[in-house]
Amino acid sequence: MNLTPIRTIVIGSYPFPAWLEYASGNLDQFGSADVEEMINDAVVAAIHDQVTAGLDLITDGEQTRLDFNLSFYGFLQGIKKETKSPRLWGPPAHDQRGKHQLIGDLVAPNGLGVVQEFLRLKTLAPKDQALKASIPGPFTLSGRLLPNNQYPDRYAVTEALLPIVRTELEDLVKAGCQEITIDEPSMSCYAYKESTKRFVDIFNRTVESVEGKCRLSTHLCFGNFKGHPVGYRRIAPMLPDFLDFKVDEVHVEMANREFAEIELISEFAKKMDVAVGVVDVKSYYIETPEDVAERIKICLKYISPDKLAVAPDCGLSQTARWAAKQKLVNMVQGAQMMRKQL
Ligand SMILES: [Zn+2]
Repeated sequence: MNLTPIRTIVIGSYPFPAWLEYASGNLDQFGSADVEEMINDAVVAAIHDQVTAGLDLITDGEQTRLDFNLSFYGFLQGIKKETKSPRLWGPPAHDQRGKHQLIGDLVAPNGLGVVQEFLRLKTLAPKDQALKASIPGPFTLSGRLLPNNQYPDRYAVTEALLPIVRTELEDLVKAGCQEITIDEPSMSCYAYKESTKRFVDIFNRTVESVEGKCRLSTHLCFGNFKGHPVGYRRIAPMLPDFLDFKVDEVHVEMANREFAEIELISEFAKKMDVAVGVVDVKSYYIETPEDVAERIKICLKYISPDKLAVAPDCGLSQTARWAAKQKLVNMVQGAQMMRKQL
């Protein structure tokens, strides 16, 4: 794949339009054809915002992951949906998300829905636009499933999910998807206290059957739930083991961390391309194109432009749409300013 230097990309998610968010809480008032139309319209809106910003690579904005039935967990059998948040009051945070119970064999007879999402994106996007699909990796996906007798700990749940994610990756490649991000932020959040070698083994077994058949990347952030991080926000514990990930590109959160440990991208760059988070999805300060250009200049001290991509720190789903849109526009302009100087 011949890629533009300082390629401008996104991670995966994009904010829902207000009407979609309202509708997703009131799906019983819509018929299946209404929902289908609504999802198409939302994906068209997400494509429009990304294409007009001028991004080199776009996604469907994960606009179809509306509710339990349309999210990954809704595609899994052997789980019982947890409906109630364990903490309903107080400031918004990760601990307000319920966990699902395991009640049988974990299987996904109809896949995880990502192939259908990709095919929809392919139909609705401009013909020559580079497209990407995103899918959570098995360790991250296991985070909301409660271990039981059959699956006694998080790693056992992960092992059960691994072949399900791998099959979805294979099916994505068969559907013509040329670029896939496997989101494993739980690995970056826990690298400081879990076995990083074990994470690498899990990751590489997940992607082994599609390696070399499409461009693979992973997104390693420190969490974003309603604008709040959840992880220990250091990259150093991931190294050197994470350099063994079988990926073409790694994405790291930088803007929100004020570019702490930016020098470590040179380590990743020995093995893979690096996408650096140059806009902060948690802040409503809108980075100017000049801010972005300055940040790219810092990156270029540690990596060559052909190996560098720029992105928001994380998916944009937790950022208001007006801000997300302007941040993408400015990010692309900043990258273009720097390309001209190359
Ligand atoms: Zn993230």
